Amino acid sequence: MNCCTQLAVGLGALLICGCADQPTELHRQRIYAMGTWVDLSIRAADATDAQSLFGEIEVVLSAFEKDYYAWVPGQLAELNDAIHAGEPALVTSPLAALIVEAQRLSALSEGFFEPGLGALVELWGFHSSVQNPQLPPSADEISAHLDAGTKIASLRIDGQRIESSSRGLMLDLGGIAKGAAVDTIISLLLERGIEHALVNAGGDLRVIGRSGGRQDERRWQVGIQHPREIGLLGIVELQSGEAAFTSGDYERFYDRNGTRLHHIIDPQTGYPVTHTQAVTVIATNGVTADAAATALFVAGPGRWRHVARLLDIDYVLRVDASGELELTAPMRDRLRPADGVDSDIISPPDEDGAD
Ligand code: ADP
Ligand code: MG
Repeated sequence: MNCCTQLAVGLGALLICGCADQPTELHRQRIYAMGTWVDLSIRAADATDAQSLFGEIEVVLSAFEKDYYAWVPGQLAELNDAIHAGEPALVTSPLAALIVEAQRLSALSEGFFEPGLGALVELWGFHSSVQNPQLPPSADEISAHLDAGTKIASLRIDGQRIESSSRGLMLDLGGIAKGAAVDTIISLLLERGIEHALVNAGGDLRVIGRSGGRQDERRWQVGIQHPREIGLLGIVELQSGEAAFTSGDYERFYDRNGTRLHHIIDPQTGYPVTHTQAVTVIATNGVTADAAATALFVAGPGRWRHVARLLDIDYVLRVDASGELELTAPMRDRLRPADGVDSDIISPPDEDGAD
């Protein structure tokens, strides 16, 4: 039986559960970080605990913005400077661990996920939501960047010491950092004894427990947004620990003679992918889900199922360039029509293409 009454929706909303042995409340907070709104919903015993957790999470997110984003002064920028100078660099162990994982997932995805293409992302102007260039780069500029080296495989990683055999390499963790941030926040919440939470970074999210708390059977219901309309493609129910991440062509883009040029780049050609509108995956952690959504987006028709198998991803929903849906069989079993079903999140695409 669902004993919860939804009192309000949005910032600061509370879901109050009155029939548990120890009444618990769902506390919500919204923090702007990493170019998106991060919506936190956690079930905590009291409001003071929740507020102090929100404060800790804000600090975690600020660190991610500084140290995992290549275009502001911080650890990743320092590493890229060292690579450019042909020197080794020392990074913190969490960043080293993420780079090791990024390298592993890149190799496993046969290079469709390629966090070494930062220079190309910058050339196209997709590193910033406010600096979209008026013109796409020339074919010569693109091939010069491809020749200079865009492969994370060129990194040699020895503990926290990292160097590259390719001085043209520029790391961009934009395709995996949100997953790492969401995982870090979930680990922090578990360490602090929180059993039920949803961490939603602009539609990329992970849950623990159940939305109604221990006494409630109701699992977290999350909406998968439509890539072209304000609304949902469907709703999935997530098991505790699962992450659902989407890569879409509606996040950062500009239109050029009717062609949508957006922020996910095919590492083989150096051009934005045109065959896919969106890919949503469900995985057991945020890092894998984030990298896999990007990899399958790039892999495209004829190849995405093969890459999903390589990455061990069972649940995939792909929307192709014409808006047709393709699903793996396990995803088809889980996806429910959005009509008439309440979801715990709804995040429609931004109309201006900015994050
Ligand atoms: P979002 O961050 O918008 O949710 P993604 O997780 O797919 O979407 O990440 C896209 C970002 O990843 C781009 O903005 C860029 O920084 C980087 N990127 C672009 N193409 C690739 C690629 N082929 N492999 C890895 N990262 C990429
Ligand atoms: Mg991604």
